[in-house]
Amino acid sequence: MRNQNFIDREKLYGLLDQKAPVADELNEILNKARKLKGLNLEDVAKLLCVEDEGDIKKILDTAEYCKDEIYGKRLVLFAPIYTGNACVNNCVYCGFRRDNKGLKRKVLTMDEIEQETLQLLRMGHKRALLICGESPRNDADYMVEAIRRTYAAKDEKGSTIRRINVELAPMSVEDFAKLKAEKIGTYVCFQETYDPVEYVKFHPAGTPKGDYLYRLTCMDRAMEGGINDVGLGVLFGLVDYRFEILAIMEHARHLEDDYGCGPHTVSFPRIEPAEGTPFSLPENIPHPVADKDFMKIIAIIRIAMPYTGIIISTRERPEMRDQLVKYGVSQISAASETNPGGYEEDNTGAQFTLGDHRSLDEVISMMIDGGYIPSFCTGCYRKGRVGADFMDLAKPGLIKEYCKPNAMFTFREYLEDYASPETKAKGLELLKKLTQTFPKEELKKRVEGNLCKIGDGERDLYF
Ligand code: SF4
Repeated sequence: MRNQNFIDREKLYGLLDQKAPVADELNEILNKARKLKGLNLEDVAKLLCVEDEGDIKKILDTAEYCKDEIYGKRLVLFAPIYTGNACVNNCVYCGFRRDNKGLKRKVLTMDEIEQETLQLLRMGHKRALLICGESPRNDADYMVEAIRRTYAAKDEKGSTIRRINVELAPMSVEDFAKLKAEKIGTYVCFQETYDPVEYVKFHPAGTPKGDYLYRLTCMDRAMEGGINDVGLGVLFGLVDYRFEILAIMEHARHLEDDYGCGPHTVSFPRIEPAEGTPFSLPENIPHPVADKDFMKIIAIIRIAMPYTGIIISTRERPEMRDQLVKYGVSQISAASETNPGGYEEDNTGAQFTLGDHRSLDEVISMMIDGGYIPSFCTGCYRKGRVGADFMDLAKPGLIKEYCKPNAMFTFREYLEDYASPETKAKGLELLKKLTQTFPKEELKKRVEGNLCKIGDGERDLYF
């Protein structure tokens, strides 16, 4: 185990004790950001202190530029499968917490997991996130079986889930190695809050999650277990959001310094009301994050860590999600249920309340209207372009040459197999326009060729 003390609480709070940068200084930081090489901790601390509306607009514009340069109009879609809501922890904000006696508990059988997977496939999903509470009933061996059943499920059109990410409690190096052997994509675990003093108030001692350091070092163990594709996250609302952003930067730097590869993604959930969980009600949240600040946070991370995926979930309302994708979000969940068995039958037991109830087809229709390319692509992962290799590929901007065509191929598959007639008609129009945007004639021809093949019934084509 390498350095465990990579979060220096006093130093991070100290950095926030300053005035907003003056015009020249702000411009200098934003010009640096436009070079797409990221920002350092001090730059980010200065941006976090900006309150002036005109200056915030400059940050948002810079984020929009960076997002467009690196990701173009591509937006990756996925959906969670909650395999269980049993939990030995007692996190004050969560509907799954142990003391929430009114919650109907359920841990899915393997047959039920298969049924949930089929429901996702029939909507058109290709990427699933397996997620559950922390319980001996959801241990690593259970997850290994769950991953196998999810990958094995095939719908009537022959579609399968092509990438499984997992969001699970911290585990040992040996257990991480078991997951790695099952070909998981990203291992995701939120620190919830990086503030060690505040952490213990929300995660009672005596529960596994009460151990701040064990959680903080879980990505180190994941890396040691062979998983070099990890996702960080915090739950906004627990402490000053500015501290959390600096801490995420420090966590990313630690992973880069010690393992040669930063996080693949960062997730941005805000606390949402959960049944039987008074803490989660808006009036009880200690540090609520207003919409305008949330937008600023996404923009700052986009320009500070330009090649790291930013994820938001269906916690956010559609209007908010549509704004956030402009300023930096690169992955969204869609048509999600947050209770085990939620796709197969309408039952209770959700982790939190959803803000976006649109179907996948409705979300995709909205994306087409905004000129976005819905992507179910899993090409890099399946070609072995992950971890440090992915970062090498992404950094020179080559991401566009692979990701954009691959996104278009999966979009065409969706239009052929699952879209409503209206979505299909406007989606095909968009694809036609997008094909004309490749400057290199040879690449354009290859893209057109694959799109035609998909129209003729071939599937799963990628560069
Ligand atoms: S946040 Fe996770 S660990 Fe905490 S109670 Fe909810 S499911 Fe359990």
